[in-house]
Amino acid sequence: MLDNLQETVSAWPFGVFFLLVGSCVGSFLNVCIHRLPAGKSLVWPPSHCVVCLAPIAWYDNIPVVSYFVLRGRCRQCGTRFSARYAVVEAASGLVFFGFWLAYFIFGVRPGAAHVGVYAVHMVLASALVASGVIDFERKEIYTSVTNVALAVALIGSFLWPQVQRVGAYDGQLPGWTGWERADAVLLGLLGAAVGGGLIFVTRLLGTWAFKKEAMGIGDIYLMAAIGGALGWEAAVLVFLAAPFLGLAYGLWHLARKHDSEVPYGPFLGLAAGAVMLVQDGVVAHFRPGIEVMWEIVYRIVCQTAGSG
Ligand SMILES: [Zn+2]
Repeated sequence: MLDNLQETVSAWPFGVFFLLVGSCVGSFLNVCIHRLPAGKSLVWPPSHCVVCLAPIAWYDNIPVVSYFVLRGRCRQCGTRFSARYAVVEAASGLVFFGFWLAYFIFGVRPGAAHVGVYAVHMVLASALVASGVIDFERKEIYTSVTNVALAVALIGSFLWPQVQRVGAYDGQLPGWTGWERADAVLLGLLGAAVGGGLIFVTRLLGTWAFKKEAMGIGDIYLMAAIGGALGWEAAVLVFLAAPFLGLAYGLWHLARKHDSEVPYGPFLGLAAGAVMLVQDGVVAHFRPGIEVMWEIVYRIVCQTAGSG
């Protein structure tokens, strides 16, 4: 049924709808960003001013708009709210809208113009925004956030196996068999293992080489969610791309603050966002090389096995 929605979703009102949905998701991400590090419940109490504790009415809680209407202040006591509330809401809205534009209008990846794929990708993007902001501010990643994204990716892979086959889309959307659904879930688990495993090994090697903790445990979970949703090839691409994004910031940060501890989560998130757009083309570009590499590995293994 969802497959038939694909053309409907390409209509412009849906773009506006996803822009609004994204900014409302951003509003919830603000709650996560504030309450998770404080160990508070995400659902209770409802939104309130952190200074005067006055509850915030629904009409004062409209994403982005309310921030400007109230000029960034509490209606009751006039305390200034951080501009970050509006920034996260606007950014989330633009992320949802931008990927809708890229997938359904520009068709940057034919296989991604699918409601299920879009849903899984936007849950991942939301987790990356929340994790990126929290990691940037506190150098911590909450596995409760990344695990939701991983769980949604695996459930989504079962419901819509094309989540794990975005690059293989050939214009046909078959009725999936139970085996194909199980296969998609396994591919998601493989992606999670490759993503988490790459960071795990880097962390082991880095900690051994530099005699201090290199990369956090949270980065393992974050990459597991990325690999689970986007597949093992994407996990490798994100792993390779993120250091380039992080390096520039790291050098600037080191020069300015003489602090070499750089949060890695935001850069894994940015790299994942980029890979979500260009994955098919890049993988197709490297596939011949990867096949040659496997061929060499295969021959070495065969020869070693033969001579032994
Ligand atoms: Zn107040």
